[in-house]
Amino acid sequence: MSKEDLLKAFAGYAPHADSAFLAKAYDFAVQAHGNQSRASGEHYFGHCGAVAEMLLDWKMDLPTVAAGLLHDVLEDTPVTPEELSAQFGPEVTRLVQGVTKIATLKFPSRVDAQAENWRRMLLATAEDIRVILIKLADRLHNMRTINFLDYERQRRIAEETMYLYAPLAHRLGMFEIKGQLEDLAFEVIDNRSYRQISGEMQSRMAAREELLKSFQEKIEEVLKPSGLPCRLLSRTKSLYSIFQKMHRQGKPLSEIQDALGVRLITDSVANCYALLGLVHAHFKPAAGTFTDYISLPKVNLYQSLHTTVVGPGGEPIEIQIRTEEMHRTAEYGIAAHWRYKGGGGANDSHLEEKLNWLRQWIEWLQDLKNPREFLESLKTDLDFNQVFVFTPQGEVKVLPAGATPLDFAFAVHTEIGSACVGALVNNKMVKLDYEFKSGDICQILTKSGSVPKKDWLSHVKTARARSKIRRYFREKGIAL
Ligand code: MN
Repeated sequence: MSKEDLLKAFAGYAPHADSAFLAKAYDFAVQAHGNQSRASGEHYFGHCGAVAEMLLDWKMDLPTVAAGLLHDVLEDTPVTPEELSAQFGPEVTRLVQGVTKIATLKFPSRVDAQAENWRRMLLATAEDIRVILIKLADRLHNMRTINFLDYERQRRIAEETMYLYAPLAHRLGMFEIKGQLEDLAFEVIDNRSYRQISGEMQSRMAAREELLKSFQEKIEEVLKPSGLPCRLLSRTKSLYSIFQKMHRQGKPLSEIQDALGVRLITDSVANCYALLGLVHAHFKPAAGTFTDYISLPKVNLYQSLHTTVVGPGGEPIEIQIRTEEMHRTAEYGIAAHWRYKGGGGANDSHLEEKLNWLRQWIEWLQDLKNPREFLESLKTDLDFNQVFVFTPQGEVKVLPAGATPLDFAFAVHTEIGSACVGALVNNKMVKLDYEFKSGDICQILTKSGSVPKKDWLSHVKTARARSKIRRYFREKGIAL
């Protein structure tokens, strides 16, 4: 991307921002990387420009786009943090430092190095969420240009992308990015399956378009008289999600019914429910498919109504109904909250509150000193299958799939967790390794003076519970 194009794209959504600052960052990065080239043979700066371009797509604020241009100067050029700070100030410097890898430090093993990298990056992210947005743009571009590396390195990077970056993007509500990262990693890790699925999907394309068109006509017919504002978008599933479905259902690709995905986007929450009513009145819903993520948002802020109905030709159609604002959040996730809004910066008043879980979670992870345990916990907490469990008072706790009453107890309060002696789920006594189902109502039984047990560590799923239990033993001076 040329400097002119970049400045123009930025001015397109941030007309009042200081574009001279961005121009300076551009020139500085071009000069710092000089004649360096990437494995692809292209100029190194091409990568920096591509990262900045994605950040522009997400309409990020000035310091983030500038840091995107500069994100590799500390790692790959002689530029020092002091120099960077003198030129661009502490904010941009902090962002760049947060993104900078530490691959040069020596660790006993690759796992240790990887764990330490993640620990540092998450720590920087806790201070400033924009670090992870730059890092995701960086990883996405690296994945798009990965075929210039030898296979061993491709595989290592693809695996890390699949197990850590894609789930993190999901956790941050960046579905679009998550899907792209997964498909790029999938192509490297299991190239045969990737090619098989992508070929098959190509050949199904025409039939799908046909079905979609006929459904679109039908639904417009139904919605028109209501006068409800609504636009319809079709949705394509990622290849990797189809692959996962094959595994879940234990079926070959030919037997996978790949439901058509449709989104209905309207102006208000009330109209979401009104649309749902109309849809269900005219198309038979498939049993057990309705989920209300508007009244129960996912922890990554995602909101929508989900339902699957039977289409005009008997085919299943997955429908998501949401407002424009929910749609933006679903597309951009956390980045939607950092979008440039003009005037006094891009921060929004609810952001801090919404991001508390992220900071808390990172804090619990910090407690895990063993690199393997740290990476395991990171992966588990990023695994996005979640269950909703209720307190007897009707308060909801969102836990990872496989969570147990101990996770729930520690999610309610550390003291409740520590003194837990048993649990009632839906009024029945359960063991402490019981795995929740969504909708369970859980009551924790406590006894004063009761303390955590060592074997609890094998019954908990969440970083929070694990960290609290470990802390107890550490403070008592008991080795684990
Ligand atoms: Mn980079």
